[in-house]
Amino acid sequence: MTDGLMILEKLLDHYSTEAACIEALMATKWSNGFTCRYCGHNRAYKITTRKIPLFECAACRHQSSLLAGTVMEGSKTSLQKWFHALLLVSFQPTGVNAVQLRAAISVTYKTAWLMLHKIRYAMNQDAGKLLSGIVRINSAIYGNPHNASVLRHPKEQPLLIGASITDKGEPACIKIKLVANEHLRERLVVPDGTKVFIKYQVAPGTVDVQCVTARFSPLRFKKLVDIVHEASCWISNKFNGIGPKHLQAYLDEFSYRINMKLENAGISMFTHLTRQCVSIPTLTYSALIG
Ligand SMILES: [Zn+2]
Repeated sequence: MTDGLMILEKLLDHYSTEAACIEALMATKWSNGFTCRYCGHNRAYKITTRKIPLFECAACRHQSSLLAGTVMEGSKTSLQKWFHALLLVSFQPTGVNAVQLRAAISVTYKTAWLMLHKIRYAMNQDAGKLLSGIVRINSAIYGNPHNASVLRHPKEQPLLIGASITDKGEPACIKIKLVANEHLRERLVVPDGTKVFIKYQVAPGTVDVQCVTARFSPLRFKKLVDIVHEASCWISNKFNGIGPKHLQAYLDEFSYRINMKLENAGISMFTHLTRQCVSIPTLTYSALIG
């Protein structure tokens, strides 16, 4: 058994009771002690008559559930299953799909699918992390790579990939974003498309930014195009391909995994992801399928 698998087994065992999961959530949510969401007071009474404890602020008397303001809010799935899902997502090198999660934690396919989308949503809310330093951006295409025509095939999704580059020329942090139709001319990303990418994905004040959108330019950043190819393969192998509606969420998960792998693995991803999940208000099913 590898070290990673042994740690995973231990953690699955540790988070096998609701009490252990509740304690972990409390420790993550209030790592510096309780803080009231309404008045900022730092003392509360714990009300334990429900399955998930309520906290009543000692100053303003506002009561809120431990799960208020987290991705688990409103979910009928037990915390044990949530922790099991977070552990699998973090420790399986290529992640898990809804069919695998359904089998692992005994929930319906729809529940597994929704849980994974909520977790992906939390991954993508790492907004503070913008590209900076030396930034290189390249256009690329998700989907059928064998289309020789200049016209866009309906299954092709043009996108931009950007990366902060290390001194050694390696991508250190990546972002992959689909390009809106209004910023495309067939497969070509027009300048307004790259402007939007830079505005939202690159830290203000970054000066060394280069962007290539011509498909066969000798200046293109091949390493970035290769990463998009890798993302396309991962999505088609793991999820049997994804239509345009939810594609961005899967590209975000792929980017998150790449960015985590460069810095951390397994346990760090689990710690980071749990923190994200308790600090992000949930995404509802209706908002997701909207
Ligand atoms: Zn209060």
